Amino acid sequence: MSEATSVETMRRIIRQALASMEEHADELGRLDAAAGDGDHGITMVRGMKAAVAVLDANAPDAGALLSRGALAFSDAAGGASGALYGMLFATAGRQLGAGPYATADVAAAMRAGCDVVMRLGKAQPGDKTLLDALEPFLVALDAAADRPLPVAWRTALPAAQAGTAATAGMVASCGRSATLGERSLGHRDPGAVSLTYLLEAVDKVIGEAESDR
Ligand SMILES: [Mg+2]
Repeated sequence: MSEATSVETMRRIIRQALASMEEHADELGRLDAAAGDGDHGITMVRGMKAAVAVLDANAPDAGALLSRGALAFSDAAGGASGALYGMLFATAGRQLGAGPYATADVAAAMRAGCDVVMRLGKAQPGDKTLLDALEPFLVALDAAADRPLPVAWRTALPAAQAGTAATAGMVASCGRSATLGERSLGHRDPGAVSLTYLLEAVDKVIGEAESDR
């Protein structure tokens, strides 16, 4: 894949991510309202709009574009989820850089972002955060690392979806819902849900690119 193709693919991914957040904003808000302030949908849309707004700037490679979008997202979204998402994708973008973009490289970049979220966000899988979608996704992506990226990504998606479903049975111990702990029981974590929608947005773009060939 040429660098120009990769940059264009990343642009399409970020635009698709905004479209997905707009489509699901009400649902994310309702989930957040169960144990938080109900702003998660609004926050994600505001952040993704800021990420889309920096797309026209010249980016040397797809990783740089992702990092730049992540920082714009973080500034605009604010709050805990803005910071966590910002850390995740800014770190992943920096590690991804100019590629190569084989499955193992993308998985390693996402893993680096995940590690930063765990360390700086002081969260672990089981705490009812986006990590409950991300961690199982990355384990599944690693397991498919010898397959082409669009195939591996699609193969790993059910792990994120199952991880997200499982958050309904968890009590938040950190992150946005921690102060309302027990009230979060029975509701999926909005961060895990939004992350899964973002992973699905990536699949939609790279899956289509694959079938175009
Ligand atoms: Mg909130």
